[in-house]
Amino acid sequence: MKEFTYSLLNIFRIQQSNRKDVIAMELHNYTETVVKEVLNEVLSKRKEVCQCEKCRLDIMAIALNNLPPQYYVSEKGEVYSKLLATYLEIRTKVVTEIIKASMQVEKLPHHQG
Ligand SMILES: [Zn+2]
Repeated sequence: MKEFTYSLLNIFRIQQSNRKDVIAMELHNYTETVVKEVLNEVLSKRKEVCQCEKCRLDIMAIALNNLPPQYYVSEKGEVYSKLLATYLEIRTKVVTEIIKASMQVEKLPHHQG
């Protein structure tokens, strides 16, 4: 039992020592971040569109398939703030695609009722 506890403790130590790298570096799609944000804004103004999880995800999927991805690896705030310079440009395209996608889902929701 003592040995078992010891090995668990070792695993914990290994995970902790690797933790910095895992948490500090992450792959993101900036377009996806903007899409999520814009989706809430658009849907709050277009109450006629179904607001359920399925329809929200459908709208996101359609919009993201029509938008160029903006991948970045996040370390700290630096890369993110550089990307903020293109925020308005991306946002304009995202708003257009979200509205188009929401009209599509409104006409043909993937569920009944
Ligand atoms: Zn729905």
